[in-house]
Amino acid sequence: MLAAMSASPTPGRESGDRCPGALRLHAADDGALARVRLPGGLLTSHQAEVLAGLAEELGDGRLDLTSRGNVQLRGLPDGCGAALGGRLRAAGLLPSDRHERIRNVVASPLCGLDGPAGPRDARADVADVDVDVAVDVQAWARALDALLCADRAEQQTEAEAETSDLSGLSGRFLFGLDDGRGDIAALAPDVTLIAERDGRHALLCFGTTGPALRLAVGDAPRAAVLAARAFLAAVRAGGVKAWRVRELTPEQRPSPERLAERLAAAGIACSLVPHVSLVPRVTLPHGPAPQLGLVEGRDGRWALSLAAPLGRLTAGQWRLLARAAGRDGDGELRVTPWRGIVVPGLTARAAAAHRAAFADAGLVVSSGSPWHGAGACAGRPGCAKSLADVRADAAACLTGTLPGGAGALPVYWSGCERRCGHPGGRWVDVLATDEGYRLAVRDDAARPAPTRTVPARPVPARELADAVAAARTTT
Ligand code: SF4
Repeated sequence: MLAAMSASPTPGRESGDRCPGALRLHAADDGALARVRLPGGLLTSHQAEVLAGLAEELGDGRLDLTSRGNVQLRGLPDGCGAALGGRLRAAGLLPSDRHERIRNVVASPLCGLDGPAGPRDARADVADVDVDVAVDVQAWARALDALLCADRAEQQTEAEAETSDLSGLSGRFLFGLDDGRGDIAALAPDVTLIAERDGRHALLCFGTTGPALRLAVGDAPRAAVLAARAFLAAVRAGGVKAWRVRELTPEQRPSPERLAERLAAAGIACSLVPHVSLVPRVTLPHGPAPQLGLVEGRDGRWALSLAAPLGRLTAGQWRLLARAAGRDGDGELRVTPWRGIVVPGLTARAAAAHRAAFADAGLVVSSGSPWHGAGACAGRPGCAKSLADVRADAAACLTGTLPGGAGALPVYWSGCERRCGHPGGRWVDVLATDEGYRLAVRDDAARPAPTRTVPARPVPARELADAVAAARTTT
């Protein structure tokens, strides 16, 4: 394990929380791994260039996207922690050493970018999302991140700090900021904020089921911080070692009524919504992930929604994206929790040209691609626990005869039972075993989560393509 620098944790929980960060590196078989948090998936083109440089100079030249819209560097050498931390700090990618691992914030990546007027039937390649959104959840993400990083300074007294220091949150605790379309709520965050259609109110909820609190959109980031503090207080009161809200029993979970009192004490007006449909237009938990392709905005500008094959990019691919954003876009990239990237602020002509260039560079630019919705853990040789080179086996399937595309279930290859980074909702689990791959269709949203093994026997890697294709189209 390389040097670990981190904030003082909540007593009793830290020993089990090995979630990596930019300062707490994870020792993998292919070198150390650093996870750089990107709240809301947001980064500037300059920051993206810095990450590409770090991947090439310190790492193995590649960048992995995570299921929370963060970026990982792999293959880092012993003793690189100081250089890595210094470069990230200078680029604004490490605003708080103390809070770096708790900056887990996901936000609807197409917020403000889609929803053109007029028919779109003839444009099969245009991402099919049409949401009337008035709330800027990326602004929420920036405000929430600033509050998380400033948390220590906000404490009024030492006694209060001891019971509500947010650096005591697990690296797995997730804030979800949903613009109303349900994509983020479907990821089952621990604290969910979802914008209401009137553009003036938001719902705040532990997890994604009611009751919820309705409050003004301007108060939403501060209310999310107070909700996280209420979770910490509930964990302490219950004497349990929970990292996520869903690990608490109903009796242990923080009460919305008590949270309402905390909000009122902080000057935030709210009302209790006992029975709430948190996702107005889709049924929990299957809010759709963004489609890939061109995304037309209301203002005549376009965005490009694309994905990295199995969530991994070369530094060269990453630079291509950074330069497109810097030269022709808003100077910003949005990394999505589905291991994708959105480049906003393009003209129609630039969007089409960059789409072709990204496809030529090996990126996934259409939802019709079999690579869309496909992922894999690190596997061999990066992870000692892996029973197979799952990424190579997945690539062989996806470049072969395997059909995929829009409507196909997400699929994820795992080298062992831990299934690191697997998707949520309904998905195809391709698990390496000593006897071959075991396939199953899982539904993590249902309680209890049903699992259907298809087919019943393990499948050798060379016969995997047809079995995976059949599982992905299972109804
Ligand atoms: S799922 Fe298993 S094999 Fe894959 S990265 Fe995690 S621990 Fe390693």
